[in-house]
Formats: sequence, C-alpha cells, structure tokens
Amino acid sequence: MAEKQKCSYCEEQSDKLRHPHIMGSIVVKICPTCWEVERNTHFGICGEDIGDF
Ligand SMILES: [Zn+2]
Repeated sequence: MAEKQKCSYCEEQSDKLRHPHIMGSIVVKICPTCWEVERNTHFGICGEDIGDF
C-alpha cells in the first residue's frame, strides 16, 4: 500500500497534493479541497484567480 501524504492545511490524507501557490509559504502540501478555499480567498483579496488545482 502506497503511503499517503497529509495536507498541511487540514491534515487530511490524500494522494493528490501539490505545493501551494503562495511563495515562501511554510505550508508544503495542499489538497484539492483546501486549494479551492485558498483560490476563493485569494480571489476575494487580490481579484486574481490562481487557477485550477
Ligand atoms: Zn487540505
């Protein structure tokens, strides 16, 4: 069984993780769910869409 990694935001285990868009973030991995939250938050603040996961 492959070892799954944890999302640094919600600590949910997922095999779909990527680095967050924020440069210099202490968060190393982000799951699709948290990405969408980040995306909406970032869009609300900056008016910029960081794109799909
Ligand atoms: Zn997450």
